[in-house]
Amino acid sequence: EGPEDFYQFYVRRFARRILVRPVAGVLQDCFGRPIASAPDAWFDVVERYSNDSNKTFHRTARTSKCLNLGSYNYLGFSAADEYCTPRVLHSLKKYSASTCSARVDGGNTKLHVELEEQVARFVGKPAAIVFGMGYVTNSAIIPALIGKGGLIISDSLNHNSIVNGARGSGASIQVFQHNNPKHLEDVLREQIASGRPRINRPWKKILVIVEGIYSMEGELCKLPEIIAVCKKYKVYTYVDEAHSIGAIGKTGRGVCELLGVDPTDVDIMMGTFTKSFGSYGGYIAASKEIICHLKHTCPAHIYATSMSPPAVQQVISAIKVILGEDGSNRGAKKLAQIRENSNFFRSELQKMGFEVLGDNDSPVMPIMLYNPAKIPAFSRECLRQHVAVVVVVFPATPLLLCRARICISASHSREDLVKGLEVIGKVGDLVGIKYLPVEA
Ligand code: PMP
Repeated sequence: EGPEDFYQFYVRRFARRILVRPVAGVLQDCFGRPIASAPDAWFDVVERYSNDSNKTFHRTARTSKCLNLGSYNYLGFSAADEYCTPRVLHSLKKYSASTCSARVDGGNTKLHVELEEQVARFVGKPAAIVFGMGYVTNSAIIPALIGKGGLIISDSLNHNSIVNGARGSGASIQVFQHNNPKHLEDVLREQIASGRPRINRPWKKILVIVEGIYSMEGELCKLPEIIAVCKKYKVYTYVDEAHSIGAIGKTGRGVCELLGVDPTDVDIMMGTFTKSFGSYGGYIAASKEIICHLKHTCPAHIYATSMSPPAVQQVISAIKVILGEDGSNRGAKKLAQIRENSNFFRSELQKMGFEVLGDNDSPVMPIMLYNPAKIPAFSRECLRQHVAVVVVVFPATPLLLCRARICISASHSREDLVKGLEVIGKVGDLVGIKYLPVEA
């Protein structure tokens, strides 16, 4: 027996002990049922989304039609819409699905220009730039804004696209405790006092990055307090409004409007079109100088094919509906509805004894499960009863902080919500995840 056999013997033994046993545990739900061979525990291939918007979508597996409590379709625009759809179809005929060109090489249609003007106006900044993907907006823009010699101070629970953008920028990165302005101030004070390590010169630039609504926590950013700290130390602010733009605020203008922050106090506003607007892509809104700089330097603008014209048209139309520029008050109704639906659903879950994270008005509500083996059991039982929920596990959350994440839409009717609550309540008892005392 040579050294190779010796090595293999130990590797195999190690693998069995360290890898196989725990994995076998994770492959069973808390009722001891296998999950690897049971597609009924997870979302399957979707055949189609129904016209009744967020309420139902069709799966190929045994459960054919489900109430969808997992989509980011906050305002119900991810469905045929009387105002948006005819315009999107017209833009498809006029411009086709793709420009097959970058913005600077003939891919700049009138629609792209119109959308950038409209987004800037909507969020209250002088200018905007749009990209084909929300994820890329963060991961490509952050490196175009800051680099070596700069410092990024990032909330500890910021989205992966922000983390990747920060890492790719070459700037130094410090993380502050989630949504904690006091800790942000401590980090800033320490960093400004110490300057750049080794050369002991001040940072060229400091950028603080937060989110409007945290997508795994359902929590609103403490933006007024964070802005106050940033102003005090004269550093730049970057707010990712992926989940808040269009979904909260009296006229859908996101976390600034809801919390009474003047948009001029935020240097860079980022958002995506994949949630409230039912489309695809992302934007940055900022001063004319910053947007001009990005248009001339950001590789994702210069080298990538421009946003698909029908996707652009979808956002233009959705914003018009939100602002009432379609001649109806559907936008205002949708905004009032999502607030009412979210607050109703959250308070009913709490009354039943679920531990629900997040703030009032937020349409994102994670239900804590804490036990990875309960995740497939919860998901499977909900799907069996025709309710689709998204479950979030490691590495998106720490291993023991796994959760089911409910996303509420303006297009959920009261019957939908009551049905969802009934099923989640029953499954919650079955799986044993009502950790808090039940209200009388
Ligand atoms: N930022 C945040 C906070 C997100 O949650 C997401 C994705 N859900 C993104 C950016 C990326 O957006 P998109 O899915 O539109 O690419």
